[in-house]
Amino acid sequence: MLTTRLPSRVEPYKLAARAEHLEGLMALDGFARLTDEVGAQGGDCRVWLDFGIDAQGRRVIRGRLEAELQLPCRRCLSPLAQHVESEFLLGMVTSDALAAELPSTHEPVLVENEQLNLLTVVEDELILSLPQVVYHDEADCEVSRDQLTSGADAEAAREPAASPFEVLKRLKGKH
Ligand SMILES: [Zn+2]
Repeated sequence: MLTTRLPSRVEPYKLAARAEHLEGLMALDGFARLTDEVGAQGGDCRVWLDFGIDAQGRRVIRGRLEAELQLPCRRCLSPLAQHVESEFLLGMVTSDALAAELPSTHEPVLVENEQLNLLTVVEDELILSLPQVVYHDEADCEVSRDQLTSGADAEAAREPAASPFEVLKRLKGKH
C-alpha cells in the first residue's frame, strides 16, 4: 500500500539519468481542473512513475495511475463511485517544437528550467482517463426509467443539448 506523498515538482532529467522509480499519493482535492470537470473529489490518486532514457536517447517516463472518483451520473447527476486507471508513456520536451518530433506513442510533457510539474502531468492523465459518460444502474438511479420514457421528456433526454452556437444561430434567425 502506498503511503508516501509525491512532490508537486521534480527534477526529471536527474531522475531519468538515475533511472529512478517514484511512487506515492497525490490528493485529489489538489486538482482544480478535475474539480471543474466532475465536481469536488476526496481521497488520493495512486501514482507509479519510472524515469529513464530510451535507446534513442529520449528522456521518458512510464507511468500508471489509479483513483476512486465520484462522478456525476448523466441521468440524475448524483455522484457514482468509479474506479479510474491509466497507463501512459511520456516524452520530456523543452519546447512545443520538440514535442512535434516525438513519436505518436509518446505524450509530450514540458520541462522548464529542468523542472517538471508533476501535479499538472498527473492531473492531465487523470482527466484523459475519465469515462465519457457514467450512469447508475437503473435500480439505483434517482431518475427512474418511467420518468425517462414518459412523453416529451423522453425525447428531450435523448437529444443532446443544443450547443451555444446553435442557440445563437436560432436567435439570430428570429431577427
Ligand atoms: Zn443516476
